[in-house]
Amino acid sequence: MKKVRHVLGISGGKDSAALAIYMKDKYPELDIEYYTCDTGKELDETYQLINNLEVYLGKKIVRLQAADGSNESPFDHFLKMYGGFLPSSNSRWCTKVLKLVPFEKYVGDDPVISYVGIRGDEDREGYISKKSNVQSIFPFRKNIWSEDVIAKMLPNNNIENLNAIFSNLPRTQYTKKIDEILRQPLTQNFTLNQKLNLLLDAHTETFNNLVFAFLKTTAYPLAQAESFQLLSNNDVLVRDDIFRLLRESGVGVPEYYEKRQFDSNGKTGEYARSRSGCYFCFFQQKIEWIWLYEQHPHLFAKAMQYEKQGYTWNQEESLEELIKPERVRKIKEEYLKRTQRQSNNNKSHYLLDILDEVEGEGCASCFI
Ligand code: SF4
Repeated sequence: MKKVRHVLGISGGKDSAALAIYMKDKYPELDIEYYTCDTGKELDETYQLINNLEVYLGKKIVRLQAADGSNESPFDHFLKMYGGFLPSSNSRWCTKVLKLVPFEKYVGDDPVISYVGIRGDEDREGYISKKSNVQSIFPFRKNIWSEDVIAKMLPNNNIENLNAIFSNLPRTQYTKKIDEILRQPLTQNFTLNQKLNLLLDAHTETFNNLVFAFLKTTAYPLAQAESFQLLSNNDVLVRDDIFRLLRESGVGVPEYYEKRQFDSNGKTGEYARSRSGCYFCFFQQKIEWIWLYEQHPHLFAKAMQYEKQGYTWNQEESLEELIKPERVRKIKEEYLKRTQRQSNNNKSHYLLDILDEVEGEGCASCFI
């Protein structure tokens, strides 16, 4: 039986960095391998964060580079291979060749637990590896399991099997309650998510022990582990906790998350960058392009240089068009209106949430 490896990908953003800090503090006995997939096109602040994190962890963060040995940066190497064809949301070759392929090469066929920093206040699943030897775990959420595990475990045709597994676990004060929920079939009015939440609310640790026992009957990597420290994890970490972990550890919050003021037609607004990733990432919003133009003009100029042979980062306009004064004014105005609407709705006081809201899936799926 192969040893199960524990890995944690550092995207360069705040959540995965905070997860690394959290795992080191809470589970020091876990031998976690930290890695990052370097495209060669991140902001300096991202590289700084990775260096700071290495000091805190007291461990090397393995730099995975696609096209290792090339004398160009990984992105430039592949761009040449693609004949200058810039990646886009419809043709995201960059994620595949710069992140997924190096990661899959790194883990090979070993059974792997991959820790992912999706927060408890996020409503998304994140990337789940297609490789059956890689299992994702989400320590910041009440439900630490990936949706494919839950979808295998809770359907009606597995109720009997699950009850049999559950009856072999030691009885606790929660057994009766959980047993009742397990027997309740899914219907149109009783969904998988509702069932999952009831089970987690009944007693998270007992439910986690059941999942672990169920996994033993599958080919998932955790089937090969004798025990799993996170079964008793009850923590739910939200955005405030992430910033607290980064600040208190001394690792720090990457500078690009800090709000900067801008003026537009006599009005003052605030902007920032919403996430890590390549400085020219096509998933960034128009206001983030303006942020790049005004806060990192040399990087914006570099991004412009990539726009050749009719290829542009944005579908509907080139960067040259985007920075025409009239266009900049319009983008800022629209953004100000949108942020005003969001703050009236009072959903969140975080600028990052507002940026996320419109960004949707974004390049979050760039990360493993
Ligand atoms: S950050 Fe954006 S541009 Fe860079 S690899 Fe990810 S999706 Fe592609």
